[in-house]
Amino acid sequence: MPRESAQAKAARLKKILAALDRTYPEAHCELDHRSPLELLIATILSAQCTDKRVNIVTWDLFKKYRSAADYANAPLAELEQAIRTTGFFRNKAKNIQDCCRKLVERHRGQVPRTMEELTHLDGVGRKTANVVLGNAFGINAGVVVDTHVARLSHRLGLTKQKTPEKIELELMALVPQKQWTLFSHWLIWHGRRRCFARKPDCEHCEIRKLCPRIGVKVFHPCRSVSIRG
Ligand code: SF4
Repeated sequence: MPRESAQAKAARLKKILAALDRTYPEAHCELDHRSPLELLIATILSAQCTDKRVNIVTWDLFKKYRSAADYANAPLAELEQAIRTTGFFRNKAKNIQDCCRKLVERHRGQVPRTMEELTHLDGVGRKTANVVLGNAFGINAGVVVDTHVARLSHRLGLTKQKTPEKIELELMALVPQKQWTLFSHWLIWHGRRRCFARKPDCEHCEIRKLCPRIGVKVFHPCRSVSIRG
């Protein structure tokens, strides 16, 4: 990729954000939930698992376990069985139970609203905390960096960083804070519907003229991005 000035990159990103907004006006978190607690549990379950599978599991789970105390007091084997099909179920069940015990002991059973408090809970890293803060409370504390966000950020030439933590820092410096949560949704939706990991559909991509397609090997004649600004 030829060198792009910071100014040109900012201008290109602005156009990308506008195009994604037009393309996905209804973008939202695809994990079914009706409360911060349900979103927290669903996000813990979503590690190494599809949202679709998580939503199938939580359909029954959320009817049975309605409060943090319900998870905290459940027999561990019973909880493991209930979430078994999401994978890594032993770890996840233990994290959910330990997390909910802390919610009961330290937060009166409520999900806290700060990054620091959330990341002190078992099974909750920055990514999960960002999902909960952004979608349950409307707080833009950071950018969710999952596999889609990382892949698209590279292809779009927004970052060269490798770790989610460093990618997030770079994206936070580029994207206006009020759009952090939406930006993650837009990239996740685009990654699921167009910019697939193995065969991105560049030909029909709504932002192809703004994308340098870093690391994408297949040549498409429709590519016409200028990244010199
Ligand atoms: S042009 Fe291709 S690589 Fe770039 S965002 Fe679109 S689908 Fe992904």
